[in-house]
Amino acid sequence: VRILVINSGSSSLKYAVFEGEAMNCVASENLGKPPGGNAGTALDSGKAISQIKCNLAGAPIHRIGHRVVHGGAEYTQTTPIDARVKQGIAALAEIAPLHNPPALAAIEAAEAAFPGVPQVAVFDTAFFATLPESAVVYPLPFEWRRDWGIRRYGFHGISHAYCAGRAAEFLGRSIGGLRVIVCHLGNGCSASAVRDGAAIYTTMGFTPLDGLMMGTRPGSLDPGILPYLESRHHLSSKEMESALNHRSGLLGVSGVSSDYREVEQAAASGHARAQLALDMFTRRVRAHIGQLAVTLEGVDVLVFTAGIGENSSSLRAAVCAPLACLGLRIDPEKNRQARPDADVSATDSIGRILVLKTREDLMIARETKNLALTEPAVK
Ligand code: AMP
Repeated sequence: VRILVINSGSSSLKYAVFEGEAMNCVASENLGKPPGGNAGTALDSGKAISQIKCNLAGAPIHRIGHRVVHGGAEYTQTTPIDARVKQGIAALAEIAPLHNPPALAAIEAAEAAFPGVPQVAVFDTAFFATLPESAVVYPLPFEWRRDWGIRRYGFHGISHAYCAGRAAEFLGRSIGGLRVIVCHLGNGCSASAVRDGAAIYTTMGFTPLDGLMMGTRPGSLDPGILPYLESRHHLSSKEMESALNHRSGLLGVSGVSSDYREVEQAAASGHARAQLALDMFTRRVRAHIGQLAVTLEGVDVLVFTAGIGENSSSLRAAVCAPLACLGLRIDPEKNRQARPDADVSATDSIGRILVLKTREDLMIARETKNLALTEPAVK
């Protein structure tokens, strides 16, 4: 069995091909994003999918799995794509304007290019369908939840689910009874609390702006700032949305870059605002780990993943410095030399600290392969 996985963003489309029982990756590429180049140009999904078909050189594809960021309240598991599901994904573009439209465009282009091949949607929100109601509801007028659907969804679920499962596998332990905190620290950042393999809390909310500080997004804020900006400085909702999505976070504070590595380099050469941005980033990761640890009533495993979590040993060391109070002690040498997947905890640490390479593509491939399809999903 050969599965094509498509992860479509606004300016790039990543694809990978997985084969066989073990789902070995036999091809992968990131289309549309010139190396080191401008990520702002919109991508033509039709052209990208034609390029994939051409690269496959006639090799058969049995199923196609798409990463879809927002599944809303309705899509809480991996789902075969049909006309109704496409309508659902399109309707959710209202609350996921940056993410769902490119996924839908890729689905439609793939339908045209691979007629008759079943397509499957794997949702980034689905892993958080198990959050308890007290974590889902915001302390706002209840009608906003009931009538307008203002609630916590959570994002990066494919990565959180993969890492929680992989942590158990790596340690040779059963996921049952395991209390895991996953810190997904990339351009977007989120952390989740997972008990018995199910998510019980996550830092992202109604949108992917909440929680941890990110490359260009602020994470948690005093909500009173926004109406103040509107009334006192006449910022429109569009201007605020743009600043919150594109000009905040590491970039906003440092003024240097949204890229963690570049901010680290600037800080090392004495740039004070870059250092402030790193200190804030660390403080916020720690604070959320504290919140998640209490929610879990203890931590068996703390996972660092995604670009920053997998690569920045200094970030991991700084975050973990005060975590002995949670029974988590990092080994400085193991941490410095870690290549994922690795255990970087000290021998006297009660919980384990792991650096895991996130494999969203593999997770999508597995989900796509394992979904029982009774009939072709695409007519
Ligand atoms: P991702 O969204 O998972 O691709 O992660 C992107 C983030 O990872 C960017 O902020 C990069 O600067 C950061 N990153 C990648 N490699 C490194 C590294 N070696 N050291 C520090 N940060 C890194």
